Amino acid sequence: MDEKVLTRHFGVEGLFRIDVYRGQGGYRAVETALKRMTPAAVLDEVKRASLRGRGGAGFPAGVKWGFVPQNVPKPRYLCVNADEGEPGTFKDRYLMNHNPHLLLEGTIIASYAVGIHAAFIYVRGEYEAVALRLEGAIAEAYRNGYLGKNILGTGFDLDVAVHRGAGAYICGEETALLESLEGKRGHPRLKPPFPASVGLFQCPTVINNVETLSNIPFIVQNGAGWFLKRGLPKDGGTRIFGVSGMVKKPGIYELPLGTKLRTIIFDHAGGMKEGKQLKAVIPGGMSAPILTADEIDLPMDFDSLAGAGSMLGSAAVIVIDRETSILDVLKAVAKFYSHESCGQCTPCRIGTAWINKIVKRLARGEGEQDDIDAIVRLATNIKGKTLCPLGDAAALPILSICQKFRRELEGYLPHA
Ligand code: SF4
Repeated sequence: MDEKVLTRHFGVEGLFRIDVYRGQGGYRAVETALKRMTPAAVLDEVKRASLRGRGGAGFPAGVKWGFVPQNVPKPRYLCVNADEGEPGTFKDRYLMNHNPHLLLEGTIIASYAVGIHAAFIYVRGEYEAVALRLEGAIAEAYRNGYLGKNILGTGFDLDVAVHRGAGAYICGEETALLESLEGKRGHPRLKPPFPASVGLFQCPTVINNVETLSNIPFIVQNGAGWFLKRGLPKDGGTRIFGVSGMVKKPGIYELPLGTKLRTIIFDHAGGMKEGKQLKAVIPGGMSAPILTADEIDLPMDFDSLAGAGSMLGSAAVIVIDRETSILDVLKAVAKFYSHESCGQCTPCRIGTAWINKIVKRLARGEGEQDDIDAIVRLATNIKGKTLCPLGDAAALPILSICQKFRRELEGYLPHA
């Protein structure tokens, strides 16, 4: 079985152009959905495919679409989350750069299924080249009748626009993204209400990640059963793993969900760089709790990683070797979250700032005896006590580093 789905045509020259994309079978799924399926049938197929969100939370896409009320006299919106700010994560950039029409095709089908006529692609500010490529693809789609009024003569209308963010990590959080898109500071909102009922401009809104939507054309064209066979019963399809760090071949690898972490590192990414030995792995972007070298026989899927106290997150695998100081890893995590905290809630704002201060003191060789315990206390006080998931995203990796590598960290404390 050819394992690749999303990246299957990546080697085709000019795939980002609509003529080449159509030559590879592109936009046939839009024809299938809009001409031969009802919106309810599309929704049902996506639900049966067990497509879980690829942005981090892993919520089933079809279920999320089903929460959008159809009986309110307001417009409904789709927001594509292309903010991709999680450190270590770069898969969506590749998808949009190589195959922007695949994302557009998924966007059109999702909009049709939920009764949406306006969609926004929220791209992080640093991805200027990607934003330009998307705008080129959108212009081609309008010219060829896949966007605009009366798409393919079916009576369905959809407008799509690209919106550039300003480079804040927090705008990848769905409600902060909505605030930013409305022209305000990207501060997360209290939930409930959830965006499905009160989202963009207080209207029902679906927010999906780039990789999630890019899977939709394949589900429509090949059926839920075909998609399920490429993953696990509760996690349909493949996953794009972005591997970085001390491996011979860093890059993106599209593999079935449930592939073992060891297989990804040693078979696909070529193993450790010459002379290096594995010390630890961050399996799902910086916000995922760290795993030790002894834990790499885990299958990479949502439930297995959650069972091991970590998470699949954005499937960004960061490989750390024995020569890398764990204090440097902790320093990078602490600095990032302290900088990116939006400051709305006290445990996150004060906690991340204090942890960063203590870790910097340790790194300067000026640590105090109680420092590791103080970091643990502060992170514990952040965990589960904040308005948005960034609090846990900061606390959980810090707690896991302190717990699993405590002995190494104690080496940085002053000796009595
Ligand atoms: Fe802002 Fe942090 Fe509170 Fe999230 S947890 S709302 S980032 S202060």
